[in-house]
Amino acid sequence: MRHQVKKSKYMQSNLHSFFSDLIMKTKTKHKQIENIAHCDKLTKLIDRQEFLEHIKQRLIISAKNEYQSGLLFIDLDDFKQINNSFGLSFGDELLKQVSECLRSVVCTEKLSFKMSPQTFELNLARLGGDKFAIFIHKLKSSEDTIRIAQNIIFELKKGFLIANKSINISASIGIAIYPKNSSTTPNALLQMADVAMYHAKANGRGLCYVYSSTMSKKMRRHHYLVEEMRLALASNSFTLSYQPIVNVNSLEINYFEALIRWQHPIEGHISPSEFIPIAEDSNLILELGDWILDEACRQMASWYNAGMKETRISVNVSGIQLKHRCLHPWVIAAINKFDLPAKSLMIEITESCFVDASPELILQLEKLRNEGVKIAIDDFGTGFSSLSLLATLPVDVLKIDQLFIAQAIQNNKYNKILRSIVNMASQLDFKIVVEGIEQVEQYELIKLLGVSYIQGYFIDPPLQSHYVEKKLLQRYTELHT
Ligand code: C2E
Ligand code: CA
Ligand code: CA
Repeated sequence: MRHQVKKSKYMQSNLHSFFSDLIMKTKTKHKQIENIAHCDKLTKLIDRQEFLEHIKQRLIISAKNEYQSGLLFIDLDDFKQINNSFGLSFGDELLKQVSECLRSVVCTEKLSFKMSPQTFELNLARLGGDKFAIFIHKLKSSEDTIRIAQNIIFELKKGFLIANKSINISASIGIAIYPKNSSTTPNALLQMADVAMYHAKANGRGLCYVYSSTMSKKMRRHHYLVEEMRLALASNSFTLSYQPIVNVNSLEINYFEALIRWQHPIEGHISPSEFIPIAEDSNLILELGDWILDEACRQMASWYNAGMKETRISVNVSGIQLKHRCLHPWVIAAINKFDLPAKSLMIEITESCFVDASPELILQLEKLRNEGVKIAIDDFGTGFSSLSLLATLPVDVLKIDQLFIAQAIQNNKYNKILRSIVNMASQLDFKIVVEGIEQVEQYELIKLLGVSYIQGYFIDPPLQSHYVEKKLLQRYTELHT
């Protein structure tokens, strides 16, 4: 027992001296780093230029010894928001603490990767703003980079305490591997990690991604479409089409869904499934969404004044718009601008937006509903909302995602799910719309299930407004002659 105590004391003192030694070396290294010309004044980390020079030397060694190396590009999520909310000096303090956190990760990794203590701090840089990079000279396997990146994300997520405020942040990390990503220059390696980081941001933040060449293609397309969308907005080149939602039995039009259309001068038709997510990612959806709501209200007011008083137009509103626009005043302003009765407008929000809807959003929806604007849940069945949530939502219409009807004829499981969604929705008194009806068999099945409304190519595709008018006029004349 005595012997054991002695042994443990001996180990403790050994460990103590090991860590003191490490701290001393780290402190000396800090001093050395501070003396480097290209050192970032705020965090005392090396800057981009020094980092690239360091990687250049390391890659020469990697090439000679056939080492695999890795580069991590770290970008804090929503740092701008922190700066805007708490001020620049608060942001600076956060960057300092983040640097310390990254230092300790690099320091720990140094132990497991057997880097030389003289160089390990040169493997960590502040590239500028809230962007950092870590170079790992000798990897056992490329998977190690993912483990380290996940460890960094985990450590940063623990949060920071600044001026008695606890701050939670996340980071997106892109990874490039040498020589797998077949790049010999440090700049190209950094760029690839940057592209992968961008991919991590686009896929939800707080994630890490390893670079692949398809990412570059995707990113070029992304940047191109953002610029082209800006031009299209400025030159008023978007249009809206209107797809009828009809009564299953009488086939009478109940209302129209407004769907955006983009005829690009060179590329031709570009699908909203491609450009809407990019518009959301770049926040261009805010400007675009304002135009969509205005245009839909303008069109509906013109139909209303021409006598189409019973129908309405439904406008898709994305999650990003809900975050940035105060829904009730935003919608009411558009309605008032065109002197449109509230009952002539519907707002479509996807089920996934309802899953984490704030009480404020629910309140805004309730206010709109009280004034007569209808609310629809879009793409129902794909967003994993719970039944209890559904019962409490201020919603009039439930649109069952087209996935279900597309599968229901051949796949018995989908058929059963479709039946139970329809049963549940009618129990809760929702007006049900099944989207994506393309074939007569699907139409017959929907009729059998007792659904009241359908939308799909079997009835009509999305139509330009003058076709809608022509169609309605035709129906009117048929009925009255
Ligand atoms: P969504 O809101 O679910 O719209 C229905 C989509 O299904 C439309 O595609 C429509 O053209 C298509 N569709 C209609 N009938 C059928 C059918 O029988 N079969 C099949 N396979 N498809 C059918 P679209 O216009 O390409 O739009 C795709 C998505 O883009 C929309 O899905 C919506 O999420 C988004 N989107 C379109 N317009 C807008 C808009 O004005 N604002 C916003 N925020 N999103 C929009
Ligand atoms: Ca929709
Ligand atoms: Ca839908």
